Amino acid sequence: MLGEGIIKGLAETARNFVGSYVDKERLVTVQYPEERLPAKEAARNFPFLVFDGHDPHAGLRCVACQICEKECPPQCIYIEKSMDKKPDYVGKPQFYPKIFDIDISVCMSCQICVEVCPFEAIKMDTEFELSHTDRFAGLLFDKHQLAKSNEYYQKIHPNEAAEVDGHLAAEKAKAEVKAKADADAKARIAAAKTTTPPAAKPTPAPTS
Ligand code: SF4
Ligand code: SF4
Repeated sequence: MLGEGIIKGLAETARNFVGSYVDKERLVTVQYPEERLPAKEAARNFPFLVFDGHDPHAGLRCVACQICEKECPPQCIYIEKSMDKKPDYVGKPQFYPKIFDIDISVCMSCQICVEVCPFEAIKMDTEFELSHTDRFAGLLFDKHQLAKSNEYYQKIHPNEAAEVDGHLAAEKAKAEVKAKADADAKARIAAAKTTTPPAAKPTPAPTS
């Protein structure tokens, strides 16, 4: 019948409209900002920097390789590499960002920075209430504002974070096995040097 789909759609709308007065399940809206719907796992807004442990500086995964800065399409990431190094998550000394800024007024939430980062150091946040009266300084986030714990990452993206944790744990275990093998090899060489007697000097031939 002509218009059957429209009639069905209007009937469903009317059913939900009337039903929403008696059944909370039929409400598709909430009384924001008093009430908030939980963000979906796949939701994304702007990037943040992940740190492990409790110290945002010591645990910051970013090693200031600047790949994300180069790949960001609107060029809204600014990084300055440190002069010194600190241990990364496998204990290897690495540079860290002395400055890491993102201008979120320019960021287009494309997630390319996340995809190119080889260190699982930058991830997408779901935080969206970021409006500010200062268009420039208020929306330029530095590394202190961007640093968020791995627990936070696990909370907002549980499945993705579990996969990343598994991958990092495997890499850490591999690095520990390699470090132990290197230390054992060094110890064996040192022991061999101390136990091998020095080679005897050749006896000079008698002169006539
Ligand atoms: S999400 Fe896209 S635009 Fe935003 S900082 Fe990352 S690469 Fe740049
Ligand atoms: S966030 Fe990742 S890609 Fe960007 S500088 Fe840090 S380690 Fe490199």
